[in-house]
Amino acid sequence: MERRKFIKAAGIAGVTGAAAAASAFPKPAIAQERIEFAMVSTWPRDFPGLGTGAQRLAERIGVMSEGRIQMQYFAAGERVGAFDSFDEVASNNAQGYHAADYYWKGKNPGWAFFTAVPFGLTYTEMNAWIRFGGGQELWDELGSEFGLKGLMAGNTGVQMGGWFRKEINSADDLKGLKMRIPGLGGDVMAKLGASPVSLPGGQIYENLVSGAIDATEWVGPWNDAFMKFYEAAKFYYYPGMHEPGAMLALGLNASFWGKLSKSDQAIIEAAAASENDWMMSEYNAKSGAALQDLITNQGVQLRQFSDEIYDSFSEAAEEVFEEVQAHSDLSSRIYNSFLKSRADVGAWTNISDQAYVQQRNRVLGL
Ligand code: CA
Repeated sequence: MERRKFIKAAGIAGVTGAAAAASAFPKPAIAQERIEFAMVSTWPRDFPGLGTGAQRLAERIGVMSEGRIQMQYFAAGERVGAFDSFDEVASNNAQGYHAADYYWKGKNPGWAFFTAVPFGLTYTEMNAWIRFGGGQELWDELGSEFGLKGLMAGNTGVQMGGWFRKEINSADDLKGLKMRIPGLGGDVMAKLGASPVSLPGGQIYENLVSGAIDATEWVGPWNDAFMKFYEAAKFYYYPGMHEPGAMLALGLNASFWGKLSKSDQAIIEAAAASENDWMMSEYNAKSGAALQDLITNQGVQLRQFSDEIYDSFSEAAEEVFEEVQAHSDLSSRIYNSFLKSRADVGAWTNISDQAYVQQRNRVLGL
């Protein structure tokens, strides 16, 4: 019944009739429709931070939609291998993945910017670029080339430089090193004479212990302690130039996303934004104590990369960024948008967060 006729009929029929008519009014179809949503991921099941965060996100989408969006979560290897997540979602076999988008840099180096790049953005800077600096629009444009739609859904914060069997006193010490380091950070290491390898989290430990790789980065003290890398490499370097605020993505099949109601899209967006915040909170809460434990109880030697090594990283990163710009018009536009945000927000970080924390910790001796 058209709304105008319905109101008129209710008016004539009086109170009793109106009540009857109202109860007969159909519930919105959206409340009855169940949506199946299979989510794959690049993390082992129950893996602290990344895996538990992805699982929390899947659960939250189910709860927020009161079960209408029926989530089925598959950790790495439970449905497809970690690095097959992209194709699984692009083909709509699964509707979403939780992953680090820099794993797909071979398809377009622009993907790396939506996780982390060398000399890139911290957590708060990344949020600023994605939400207010044009980042999301470029991410959408890149995703649309592959039938995907990305949402921010987690962050590790500044990552450590990695685990090494020997001290790294100059850039020359990186030559010939076989190191697990994905994304454009791996390309920087290659420019400096190392051999970067991209392995999913579940395979790093065995490769480090067997000697198949000489060094590895992963995340930070809380995650790395769980991985027991200290059993094979004692020198733990900071800060990592390669992932200063690694953002994790909820990558959705674009056609699945486009068919969802505005309400369902809003639920998924809110759940992803929530996880973006929760994951970062957990990393920040647990990393300091984990680092202290590694040093005190596992004999880990904490080392800082020297300025000279950082200068070498920077020179190599500039070469990598030239290749990114040469790849395609889109990757060049992504790089230049990132560059503008890094300059604007980075300069502000200098006199806000950085200046304050430096003064506070100096006064308090932290
Ligand atoms: Ca990492």
